[in-house]
Amino acid sequence: KVQEVREVTRIERIGAHSHIRGLGLDDALEARKISQGMVGQVSARRAAGIILEMIKEGKIAGRAILIAGHPGTGKTAIAMGIAQALGSDTPFTSIAGSEIFSLEMSKTEALTQAFRKSIGVRIKEETEIIEGEVIEIQVDRPATGTGSKVGKLTIKTTEMETIYDLGQKMIESLTKEKVQAGDIITIDKATGKITKLGRSFTRARDYDAMAANTRFVQCPEGELQKRKEVVHTVSLHEIDVINSRTQGFLALFSGDTGEIKSEIREQINFKVAEWREEGKAEIVPGVLFIDEVHMLDIECFSFLNRAVESDMAPILIVATNRGITKIRGTNYKSPHGVPIDLLDRLLIISTTPYENDEINQILKIRCEEEDVEMTEDALTVLTRIGQETSLRYAIQLITTAYLVCRKRKGKEVGIEDVKRVYSLFLDESRSTQYLKEYQQEYMFYETGFYKFVYR
Ligand code: ATP
Repeated sequence: KVQEVREVTRIERIGAHSHIRGLGLDDALEARKISQGMVGQVSARRAAGIILEMIKEGKIAGRAILIAGHPGTGKTAIAMGIAQALGSDTPFTSIAGSEIFSLEMSKTEALTQAFRKSIGVRIKEETEIIEGEVIEIQVDRPATGTGSKVGKLTIKTTEMETIYDLGQKMIESLTKEKVQAGDIITIDKATGKITKLGRSFTRARDYDAMAANTRFVQCPEGELQKRKEVVHTVSLHEIDVINSRTQGFLALFSGDTGEIKSEIREQINFKVAEWREEGKAEIVPGVLFIDEVHMLDIECFSFLNRAVESDMAPILIVATNRGITKIRGTNYKSPHGVPIDLLDRLLIISTTPYENDEINQILKIRCEEEDVEMTEDALTVLTRIGQETSLRYAIQLITTAYLVCRKRKGKEVGIEDVKRVYSLFLDESRSTQYLKEYQQEYMFYETGFYKFVYR
């Protein structure tokens, strides 16, 4: 039984797009037919590659891209490919249009947070001191009785903890105070203020003169050299949360950040602009991906119009599978349910339905990803199913067929297993058919609900 539980956990961890490792492009930005888990959809991938280059160069702000196409044609997969190719240093935020409708915060606040999560601030610190290598911290203990020597306890800063403890301020001040090898300095733990004591601070009397709230640091003999630049990348949203007095940085872990005051954001923008001018920080525009963008309403669209034009804007990628439909919150129809003025600002990438052999390849990759052995025949049958129903449905049958196969103690999924799960689980069109036939036996039939949905 324990074993069964484990297996289930493992299956759940394979996400729908876990096989996507990039956009699968060559150096000339041409899409390889099958690469990095990506199959086909060549022109959309090529277009995405150009966007990717623009993002990497970091030159542009205020670009927005719409990926439009039939359901299951890889729109989300392409966005994931972009995210993978960007690497972990470029922020990538992914939300669904419906996520911003929450009772806890306004729609525009939710969108603002998503925007600011997608903008990184790369903070550079030039330091002459390397953790664990150059500096030694000495915690001096006062000896009993005046005039006696101060005992020294040396702790090497091999642990990150120690560096954190002393805080960023210390490194900054150290550089400012021009501390030299062999100097003894004190750091006030509360304020981080550094005082240089010279080299002969050894008497308890001196110690007593200092506040108890002090740390002593002795720089080791030998030359201190500038060795490296420390770079941290944090998002603007993280800086907001840390500086928001009502929330505090712990909110970063709980995710319960609530609304952030606009004054705080203004202050942070100001500070970051200052750091940029001083060369201490640079902005890393990331990507905000909004799936199912037709779920946003007219107020959100108007917000987006303005937000994408700010010079701190990330690249906005939105996706939808809708054709001409109502703009939420209005009675007007428009392509993709997106107002024309926003559409006008978007570069549009369209995806097309897959050919048979592309479905076959994607299913093969998914089998590998889900660790399922399948016979060629079964894969051919599954490909047919994918062609006639949907790619998603076919993907969902892989692991289910494997479970049926294991039940009969088989090792490789065969045609019989695929057939069995095909009959056990209905795809969308068979389910609709079924409902048409049996609708009178369902609840609320009288209200005409099913007639409305499946007309
Ligand atoms: P929807 O409009 O319904 O949201 P979508 O266009 O976003 O659909 P995806 O979710 O990207 O479709 O695709 C469905 C599944 O097929 C996912 O598991 C995805 O990873 C996979 N897939 C789609 N296209 C490709 C592709 N070109 N290469 C590899 N896998 C793909």
